[in-house]
Amino acid sequence: MSIRMPTIFFGHGNPMNAISKNDYTKAWSDLGKKLPKPKAILSISAHWYVPGVFLTSMTEPRTIHDFGGFPEELYQFEYPAPGDPKLARRVKQILTSIPANLDTAWGLDHGTWSVLSHVFPKADVPVVQLSIDECKPASFHYEIGRKLVPLRDEGILVIGSGNLVHNLHAYSWGGHQSKPYDWAVRFEETVRKLILAGDHGPLIDYKSLGQDALLSIPTPDHYLPLLYVLGGCEKKEPVEFLAEGIDGGSVSMLTMNFGEY
Ligand code: ZN
Repeated sequence: MSIRMPTIFFGHGNPMNAISKNDYTKAWSDLGKKLPKPKAILSISAHWYVPGVFLTSMTEPRTIHDFGGFPEELYQFEYPAPGDPKLARRVKQILTSIPANLDTAWGLDHGTWSVLSHVFPKADVPVVQLSIDECKPASFHYEIGRKLVPLRDEGILVIGSGNLVHNLHAYSWGGHQSKPYDWAVRFEETVRKLILAGDHGPLIDYKSLGQDALLSIPTPDHYLPLLYVLGGCEKKEPVEFLAEGIDGGSVSMLTMNFGEY
């Protein structure tokens, strides 16, 4: 019998983290050294935010360089992890009443590979991506997370990759140090407290959390992966904050592990 895998939310931040070494990437690589090796990974990335529920089902997903204006080295980067069509079909099955489509066009976007390249640098664990349906309310994404719980007992590592504070209008580009905005610090603290209390309701209904939430989540794409992970954990499971910091003043890099191993 497999042990129950943890479930993890990554704050992925700047795509350059894929080829950088810093405190965040060190935390991700340290995690990879202690995690039990999963049979496969199911990744919910902020960067596959589309109308519909899709699962990558190809055997060799391509590395998608879905950004602009970065150094050539980043465009050359490849993360050649295999796909896992069997897992894609299994996820489709456990989503039951939620219709999901098997996809052969997408691949692995940088929300997935910029962190996995540090956690599993050998790219030897198969990866399937699950899209975020942009037409659906926040509660729908949490509900999908609930349905994914059994996968954790099947040796599957479910990860969400986004940023719980992600305001690029306020972001300090160019690697300049920038003091975190007060609203970003406050909102991250609110989220931490609610998570530690196992109080997921206000996190699902995040718009009720006021002005700080509106500034931290100007668009939902980078926040919603957190709801899949929260849905996929039991409220009593221990939470560990693996990486923390607010990059460029307005992007929370908080990375959280839920569950024991
Ligand atoms: Zn991103």
